[in-house]
Amino acid sequence: MALLSFLGAIQQVTGSCYLIESRDGAKVLLECGMRQGRREEDEGNRAPFPFDPLTLDAVVISHAHIDHSGLLPKLVGAGYRGPIFATEASCELLELMLLDAAQIQEKDTEWENKWRARQGKAPLSPLYTTEDAEQALKQRRPQAYSAQVEVAKGVQVTFHEAGHILGSAIVEMQVQDHHLTRRLVFSGDLGNTCSPLMHPPTTLDRADLVLLESTYGDRDHRNNQDTLDELAEILQQAHRDGGNVLIPAFAVGRTQDLIYYLGRFYQEGRLPQQAVFLDSPMAIRANAIYSRFQHLFDPDDHAAIAHKPARRIEDWLPILRCTPTPEESMAINRVKSGAIIIAGSGMCTGGRIAHHFKHNLWREDCHVVFPGFQAKGTPGRAIVDGASSVKMLHQRIAVKAQIHTLGGFSAHAGQSQLLDWVSHFDHHPELYLVHGELEKMQILQQTLRERLNWIASIPEPGEQIAI
Ligand SMILES: [Zn+2]
Repeated sequence: MALLSFLGAIQQVTGSCYLIESRDGAKVLLECGMRQGRREEDEGNRAPFPFDPLTLDAVVISHAHIDHSGLLPKLVGAGYRGPIFATEASCELLELMLLDAAQIQEKDTEWENKWRARQGKAPLSPLYTTEDAEQALKQRRPQAYSAQVEVAKGVQVTFHEAGHILGSAIVEMQVQDHHLTRRLVFSGDLGNTCSPLMHPPTTLDRADLVLLESTYGDRDHRNNQDTLDELAEILQQAHRDGGNVLIPAFAVGRTQDLIYYLGRFYQEGRLPQQAVFLDSPMAIRANAIYSRFQHLFDPDDHAAIAHKPARRIEDWLPILRCTPTPEESMAINRVKSGAIIIAGSGMCTGGRIAHHFKHNLWREDCHVVFPGFQAKGTPGRAIVDGASSVKMLHQRIAVKAQIHTLGGFSAHAGQSQLLDWVSHFDHHPELYLVHGELEKMQILQQTLRERLNWIASIPEPGEQIAI
């Protein structure tokens, strides 16, 4: 019998990692994600892998988000030289994500070492370097959706659209073990059927074993149309107040959704602002990748925005101005009213949004819109929770702006969508809940039992099962 080890994103949402070993000797790592969030997670990222990287035959990645791919350079740094399989669009996004992650590691370590030197402590080396990331990128093996590929002896993989971000995939894996073939389906991160651009997640009907993400296992999202109307109303109010609108957003996924929504408002005459600045070099590069893969967009959403083929997704919003250079970014500071400024980081932990906060957050006529989740301990969360001031760029900035959070823009399936997706499988395969906080998984587990009469298991970190 083959073995499956639950190594990461077990009873939590980051650090996805699963190991599949067949008796015929094939060894495949499914996901190599970084743990994110609290400081303690750093130690988890630094701990040695619980397997020997040199013995792996292949690595398979569901999508480019760092919590699914961010330890690939560390794996390569530890000597792994085999193939890394992902969809074509994911392979392109990985270049953006891994080089950025490596740069952050190098910069953070340099900063930390300055403090350590003053305390007489030995310097630390970064978790990985740009060189490791570049090596990992050389090992990519891009695959088309729906095409089956043998990733290791007796292990076939097919990627299906997951509808979460560009290139995101559900991973179907057939593992041959002596003369027995077992079919494992890993949901990856399943998209929200209401979010624009991406196709709805592909439904599958055959599996022996399913690993189901459960990020929002406890609830449904707010109605998408209500959220859009709320955003339109905020933009009208900001226009009446006369200030700028700041939107901290993740560079990949959320920013492109925003360009799409603002483009539709513009077409419908519902966008009173004069200019939208996209002040994020990474988001601008992500736009270029999204533009190249427009054939993967949901045709209805695409038709609603693009009456003629657009070469670049920026063309959807004629008043969008991209500001890649620091000079262009600083010039935005002179704009005191009538602009929407989209910048990273998504949780305000750094990046150019901090500079825009410095110039706007203390103004009563400014509006800040949070379109995404803000984790505990981040400046974004402090602002959402009503802090009267936040520390940013080594100074305290008063929060006088009007703060809004939008609940309906999640890129993850809500509870009903998870139930619907999993209900397509014939005769109840073994079901394991992953990628979720324990309380949310328990609610999903109970709902699965009540509505589908289906028993799901919640694995423990490090648990190993025979498949
Ligand atoms: Zn994701």
